[in-house]
Amino acid sequence: MPARISRRSAIKLAGAGAALAAVDLGAAAGALAAPASGPLAGAFQAGRYTLPKLPYVYDALEPAYEARALRIHHTAHHAGYVRGLNAADDALAAARKAGDYKNIKAMSRALAFHGSGHVLHTLLWRSMTPGGSKMPPELARAMAESFGSVEACQAQFAAAAKAVEGSGWAVLAWEPLADRLIVLQAEKHQNLTVWGVTVLLVCDVWEHAYYLQYANRRADWVAAFMTLANWPFAADRLAAARKPPRG
Ligand code: MN
Repeated sequence: MPARISRRSAIKLAGAGAALAAVDLGAAAGALAAPASGPLAGAFQAGRYTLPKLPYVYDALEPAYEARALRIHHTAHHAGYVRGLNAADDALAAARKAGDYKNIKAMSRALAFHGSGHVLHTLLWRSMTPGGSKMPPELARAMAESFGSVEACQAQFAAAAKAVEGSGWAVLAWEPLADRLIVLQAEKHQNLTVWGVTVLLVCDVWEHAYYLQYANRRADWVAAFMTLANWPFAADRLAAARKPPRG
């Protein structure tokens, strides 16, 4: 039903690449139901991105993480990303309506910066828990398969976190090609992706993709690509991504 095509999807699509910039899904935005539970609960409600409540009180992580630091991080920094993401969303909606993409680079950058900030902070609050936690056996198994052992995974994660250049994140992630876990460093976080999106369709605009045929005429290659686009493939990936998680 049309209500399933939502603002949430639109932001995923917008993050997936400039080839999708013409897709306008904003009309059904108001109908979206936000996830009522799970790690992303409270991050999107009634058609707008929102600051989720912490799953614990501000002093629950002390002494490892003081209440004062956590409160500022949540109510000032995370809230700023939420405001910026809604503003980027509005700017993109206005651009689509006007058919005016002269600011597409700045708008795409803002979407990635604030979108990643919102997704990653929403996950960060759930990535910590008062008093720490026991390792679930199924995750221990996945770590052992991917890294050799739980300890090796944890050591690599901590080493990656300590060595991020400048500002950024350490990310434990599932890589779908090999069905394995990997550890990544995200420098800053806004380098033109929104972390957590599922890519539905891509257009390669590295010169190797088009130079032999189109030389420096990238626009001609993009126009040709748009005549080749495999929308059923994108639809299949969307349906698979929306299926409830395994287990
Ligand atoms: Mn932060």
